[in-house]
Amino acid sequence: MTEATDLRDVRASGMCIACGACCAADPSVSLELSPEWQIYQPASNGGMQAAGVCPAIAVDYQRLHQFVFATAPMSPLGLIKAIYLAQSTDAERNKRASSGGLIKEAIRYLLSADIADGVISIVHITGLEYEPRLIRSVEEVDRLPGSIYHNINLQATISLLERYDERIALVAIPCQLEGVYNYLSRLRPELRKRLVFTIGLLCAWQYSRHSLRAIATYLNLDPDGLTDVAFRGGDQIGKLRLQFAPNQEVQVDRRANLKYQVAFDRYFNTPRCFVCINHTNFLADLVVGDSWMQSTRFTKTGISIAIARSDSGARAMCAMQQRGQIAVHQITDKELIESEGEALVYGEFAYPFSDLLRTQGMHTPILHGPNSGYGRILRAEKLAAFYLELSTRRTLMAQGRYPALFWRKLLREGHKMAQRYLRWFINRVLRLKVLTGQDRSLCRDELKTKFR
Ligand SMILES: Cc1cc2nc3c(=O)[nH]c(=O)nc-3n(C[C@H](O)[C@H](O)[C@H](O)COP(=O)(O)OP(=O)(O)OC[C@H]3O[C@@H](n4cnc5c(N)ncnc54)[C@H](O)[C@@H]3O)c2cc1C
Ligand code: SF4
Ligand code: SF4
Repeated sequence: MTEATDLRDVRASGMCIACGACCAADPSVSLELSPEWQIYQPASNGGMQAAGVCPAIAVDYQRLHQFVFATAPMSPLGLIKAIYLAQSTDAERNKRASSGGLIKEAIRYLLSADIADGVISIVHITGLEYEPRLIRSVEEVDRLPGSIYHNINLQATISLLERYDERIALVAIPCQLEGVYNYLSRLRPELRKRLVFTIGLLCAWQYSRHSLRAIATYLNLDPDGLTDVAFRGGDQIGKLRLQFAPNQEVQVDRRANLKYQVAFDRYFNTPRCFVCINHTNFLADLVVGDSWMQSTRFTKTGISIAIARSDSGARAMCAMQQRGQIAVHQITDKELIESEGEALVYGEFAYPFSDLLRTQGMHTPILHGPNSGYGRILRAEKLAAFYLELSTRRTLMAQGRYPALFWRKLLREGHKMAQRYLRWFINRVLRLKVLTGQDRSLCRDELKTKFR
């Protein structure tokens, strides 16, 4: 295998995740929004320095585990000290948050317990743009956004780390951390000590901005008039709220709205997500996601699932509980897998799909995590059919033919959508699993005493 000498394949394949490591390694590179892919990616090919740190080219998880934790991953799920369900004890903060409000509580803890001088988190800039900023006071925490599911430019992460010689914590999606640690380990290892804590998000996928342009089109609104979007908050799932100028808010049900189902289906994910094997964020001290377990479905406001990967992650959970910031219930990896699904934790789709892309001569990053070889084997014909369909839909997306995508989805997947809706109705509305006692992986009554 020849080593990549620049970013041309990453740009052509749309595999960039906008982490900005290449820009830090090679100042001639900057990110721009690609009209074709509707994601941020490098405006030029850069050189070997840029290619050498790019997580859309390769991530050596074994090496990065050593760099970050000074030890190897201990199981297919990576390094694990403990796994929890958790929820902010502040009802309002919990309600506004994407799941249990744990990330906001963790940031408040890191700042108020003087563990970090500042925390890098994304903040809203304008319209659909968010960017990493260093926040220094607990007062700023409740103004931070919830989960942002569309592609954003994360380039400022590394420049903030380089600029401030302080104790810095970072909130990051998995591939963002891959870029940061690829860069630090290869080019600036002396900066590792500045990064005193990382809060990682669990992440199954993000959407290219084609999703937002498509939904605006389906609502008969101008995609270029979209000035803001909120994906979550309000209840466990929350409505998608789209803001159009001037002061026109449209709310879309995320569960049962057909337009949402089309614009936010899998094919609209950014290309790198299809080959991502690190959904559970192997490199973060504390990983936070949503609990999707049957036993926690009673929650109206959301419960977080958290993995402490390092001692400092476990200490933070313990301290937040002692300070009364969060309610906590410890769980096992079996429940983590129940919540997130085997496909996600073992990269069940990503490994064989990467192999398929390679056989087609397509660029795909080299990613071998501790979970390699643990997933169930998927049928080759199913993968090949998905690849063909993805290629067709990407062509339609690049041409902005969103109505054609709507009808294509309906004609090809209408029956599957109806089945999914029926399952949701039976389980969530009729609560059949609850009534027949099939949802008791954990004692629901015990959880109800701890969480709202
Ligand atoms: C793209 C994406 C996909 C996800 N997929 C899953 C999943 O499949 N399964 C699962 O269990 N959980 C997933 N999550 C995590 C989940 O949505 C919640 O973010 C998580 O449970 C934390 O909830 P909270 O209530 O503690 O966070 P909140 O209090 O709502 O805080 C969220 C914080 O995370 C940071 N953040 C949000 N979006 C981004 C972003 N795009 N890039 C960098 N930082 C960001 C910001 O600091 C923000 O303030 C995903 C999150 C994202 C952003
Ligand atoms: S993935 Fe990161 S390093 Fe690679 S091209 Fe994109 S921004 Fe640059
Ligand atoms: S699924 Fe993987 S590649 Fe996609 S946004 Fe999440 S961490 Fe990045």
